[in-house]
Amino acid sequence: MTVGSAPGAVSKGRPARRVLLVDLDDTLYRVHKIPEIVKERIQEYMVKKLGIPQEEVAAKTTEYYLTYGTTLAGLVAAGYRIDYDDWHEFVHQGALDYDTLLQPDPSLRDILCSIDLPKYILTNANRVHTERALARLGLSDCFQGLFYFENVMELAASHGFDTAHGVLCKPNPRIYQLVAEQLGVGLSEVIFFDDSVRNVASAHGLGALTVLVGTDKPCPGADLALPTMHALPAAMPELMDQPGLVHEHHHTHAPAAAVEQQGGGVLAVPAAARGTSGGGGGIAIAVPAARVPAS
Ligand SMILES: [Mg+2]
Repeated sequence: MTVGSAPGAVSKGRPARRVLLVDLDDTLYRVHKIPEIVKERIQEYMVKKLGIPQEEVAAKTTEYYLTYGTTLAGLVAAGYRIDYDDWHEFVHQGALDYDTLLQPDPSLRDILCSIDLPKYILTNANRVHTERALARLGLSDCFQGLFYFENVMELAASHGFDTAHGVLCKPNPRIYQLVAEQLGVGLSEVIFFDDSVRNVASAHGLGALTVLVGTDKPCPGADLALPTMHALPAAMPELMDQPGLVHEHHHTHAPAAAVEQQGGGVLAVPAAARGTSGGGGGIAIAVPAARVPAS
């Protein structure tokens, strides 16, 4: 099965799309309070832990974010030595009450599970935040794997990226190339979802089919704009017109590579996501806790 087997308005005449890459924050959910809290904590970190004068942090945050993709990436590029775990703990999991801020989204779960294509998270956030948010949304087992700060940096380091002096994150084109290579697909086979115009534009420039989430106003670099992911079935019916994994999830065990186990861990890319050209390269991709096979 490929998306191309039943072309709809968006994918008609395009290469078959085989993998969905999906951003997490402000794409799979939108809770305005969360980016506000994270931004506050980032600025607090800059003052308290890096000694940046209070009056400079707002401008620096914006400047770094715009220039480097994330404030963290900008700080590292500017020469600040940062303990990444400490940073993420401070700005994400240490600051967010996930149970209060996020709610399960069973309708989005049904939509995602109905798309019979491999789906991966690609986020600039860290592992704990990603896993906690997905778990709270009830979406953990909708994804075959997760690309987040830690394993993207590992992947980058294994390809010669100087992770001691730089952070690889969206919208750097290199992140999309490395992730696609890891999945064994070309970027022309990827459908990429993100709420950031520049993240979407960067992936689009490499050949991905791009969906801007959070607006109904298309922009250059986005093939499609969706107010929320819930609009996906109506906007891309060709993705949904499949036998449906909802059935499998509700009545049988998930696919072979996804036997349930508590605890989380890593697993090589499922065979379904690998292209005939190989790829993978031996680096493990994190798999949501609910999908880790017993070993
Ligand atoms: Mg986002």
